[in-house]
Amino acid sequence: MHFVILGNGVAGMEAALALRARDDEARITLVSAEHDHFFSRPALMYVFAGQTSLRDTEPHDRGLYERMRFERVSRRVASVDAPGHALVFVDGSRLGYDRLLFAVGSKARPAPWPGAEGTGLHSFVTLRDLEALDREARKGMRAAVLGGGLIVSPDNVITPDIPLANIRAMVEACHES
Ligand SMILES: Cc1cc2nc3c(=O)[nH]c(=O)nc-3n(C[C@H](O)[C@H](O)[C@H](O)COP(=O)(O)OP(=O)(O)OC[C@H]3O[C@@H](n4cnc5c(N)ncnc54)[C@H](O)[C@@H]3O)c2cc1C
Repeated sequence: MHFVILGNGVAGMEAALALRARDDEARITLVSAEHDHFFSRPALMYVFAGQTSLRDTEPHDRGLYERMRFERVSRRVASVDAPGHALVFVDGSRLGYDRLLFAVGSKARPAPWPGAEGTGLHSFVTLRDLEALDREARKGMRAAVLGGGLIVSPDNVITPDIPLANIRAMVEACHES
């Protein structure tokens, strides 16, 4: 039986481990467009803040996939051919499956007003978001943060010693308004 799990986040990894515990013979494939290794998404904010490295956010050692005989495919899925029991990747290649599990997480919802998307505007969910922010964030720049929850709380992660020091003031301004 070939189990294909679309998603290599916490849901995909836990499903793969549970499957392996139940079936030692199964072929298990994890598919992700993001990163070859399962990492802790909540810890991305600490990577951005310069408090840890991406590698240190990986909850498992890198030998786990081999030990568990998990195959990996690092490609973006464009569609599912359900009658044909196959994933179709953006390059047109296919991966057949007997059973398919979606563990694809969620994506950021753009703010519902004009101008909420475009150059200089970022979400913060994926590794690509982190890389884009890292490219653009420079010491001394001003940044506006929309939302003042856990992720951007000035008392939690974003501290005055990270490059975007002005975030603190902007978040506090958001809280006051
Ligand atoms: C900055 C931040 C902080 C957070 N803090 C917390 C917290 O403190 N506590 C908490 O409980 N939760 C927190 N969360 C939420 C938590 O990270 C998510 O709920 C959790 O990661 C969801 O896991 P998942 O496995 O369902 O999806 P994800 O981790 O999003 O994984 C989805 C997987 O699907 C893959 N994928 C999706 N579409 C495709 C495609 N088309 N082709 C190929 N692969 C695809 C992705 O590459 C990825 O591997 C935080 C999230 C963020 C962004």
